Amino acid sequence: MGSYLFDQFRQRVPGPKALFIRTSDGRVMDYGGLLALSARLAHALVALGVRPGDRVAVQTGKSPEVVALYLACLRAGAVYLPLNTAYTRAELDYFVADAEPALFVCAPGREDMVSGVSVASLGSDGIGGTLLESAAGQRGDFDDVARGADDLAAILYTSGTTGRSKGAMLSHGNLASNARVLAQEWRFGPRDVLLHALPIYHIHGLFVAVNVTLMAGAAMIFLPKLDLDQMFALLPEATVMMGVPTFYTRMLGDRRLTRAATAHMRLFVSGSAPLLAETHREWQARTGHAILERYGMTETGMNTSNLYDGPRRAGTVGKPLPGVSLRITDPLSGAPLPPGEIGEIEVKGPNVFKGYWGMPEKTKTELKGDGFFITGDLGRIDSEGYVSIVGRGKDLVISGGFNVYPKEVEDQIDALAGVVESAVIGVPHPDFGEGVAAVVVKKSDAAISEADVIAALKERLAAYKLPKRVLFVDELPRNAMGKVQKALLREEYKGLYQ
Ligand code: AMP
Repeated sequence: MGSYLFDQFRQRVPGPKALFIRTSDGRVMDYGGLLALSARLAHALVALGVRPGDRVAVQTGKSPEVVALYLACLRAGAVYLPLNTAYTRAELDYFVADAEPALFVCAPGREDMVSGVSVASLGSDGIGGTLLESAAGQRGDFDDVARGADDLAAILYTSGTTGRSKGAMLSHGNLASNARVLAQEWRFGPRDVLLHALPIYHIHGLFVAVNVTLMAGAAMIFLPKLDLDQMFALLPEATVMMGVPTFYTRMLGDRRLTRAATAHMRLFVSGSAPLLAETHREWQARTGHAILERYGMTETGMNTSNLYDGPRRAGTVGKPLPGVSLRITDPLSGAPLPPGEIGEIEVKGPNVFKGYWGMPEKTKTELKGDGFFITGDLGRIDSEGYVSIVGRGKDLVISGGFNVYPKEVEDQIDALAGVVESAVIGVPHPDFGEGVAAVVVKKSDAAISEADVIAALKERLAAYKLPKRVLFVDELPRNAMGKVQKALLREEYKGLYQ
């Protein structure tokens, strides 16, 4: 037995000279180079004392070498633990104490960010850092440590917008099954070139984008981040783009986005945050491409996807992927609900994680005895099986005892002339428990006022759903994955109705 996930990647290597990654600054790594470097790095990890089952925490810049390090961990039987590059010293202390990694890999010069753990460094230039130096003297082949489908491949911490960040334990089988199904559903093949401007410490950039590429023997173009000049310069070389909704709205705001500029593209995929139906329509009108929206999360990988060949419905996240069961349940009783009703989204399948690292109790409350995971997202399924997300359960507003689903109110506000987007939140209210409030971004030339928004909504929504206040802002607070940070908004406006 070899390394379950790595073996599947290796089987799909199109040839040693086939391109794996080209970076926006012109560096190139082919598949032969990837395999050899992953072997050298696996030897270096072992030399540093990393044993099978040990965690290797990684907080570095984005580079082909980091992908080789991820594969090296798989080959050495270690558990890859990527960390957001924005984490501060205090946050790193928490992750190191929680995950107890055998090794912490950081960017050169950041060795003193952590204490009480062995440290090695890896530069994003492909040469710098102690880990690459030690790998350089190692052999280009490695006797992979045997790992099966149930063994841990990675721990990925949830973004933790409320409360402590939790380590989701993902097995070789979780990652392999999801990458296989996505590569197949999205028709990935060795001729694909993915334009990759996402971070690689997050599920989207790493376990969707990179794993699908590896599962198809395809290639990627690595950009450090979204940069419109680079995106448009490199687009002609790509066949597929994966992005968060912000990528699409930002590109739509650029004159270089035309039908001709995207005519050669095979597929545009969006996820990690809701894509406005309007963005979907505008993109289709400008480019002729229907963005394919999918839905997933750290704990499960991808759960649903719009269809490659069938309709891609704006405002929906498509249908459950093959092998994934999805049901909607009553948030209070947990009983399954009929089609069309809004409730808690629960999923089950080979993609669903093994539990939260070091949190058996938390795992028990979210992973049900029958294998279904309570996602924390609210949604509904229509009669044809298309799933729509109406928001996070914790963003649900309960005003005067009535449930207000923010998405329903946001959709109405977003449809008003002069509005770019909105976020509806609940904040403490002396009479109603929570009062609905809307935070709205309007177009720069729009004259729409608070009273206009409320008057327009009165005709469309029941009174208890109406925002009592509408606040205009220049932009909504978003995290690196484009998710609106509603917890920050609730904090900022907590005194609104006091
Ligand atoms: P993360 O674990 O950081 O990937 O965040 C997962 C969460 O992002 C999900 O639980 C959803 O709330 C949200 N999410 C992901 N994809 C979508 C989507 N296509 N539409 C709406 N929300 C999404």
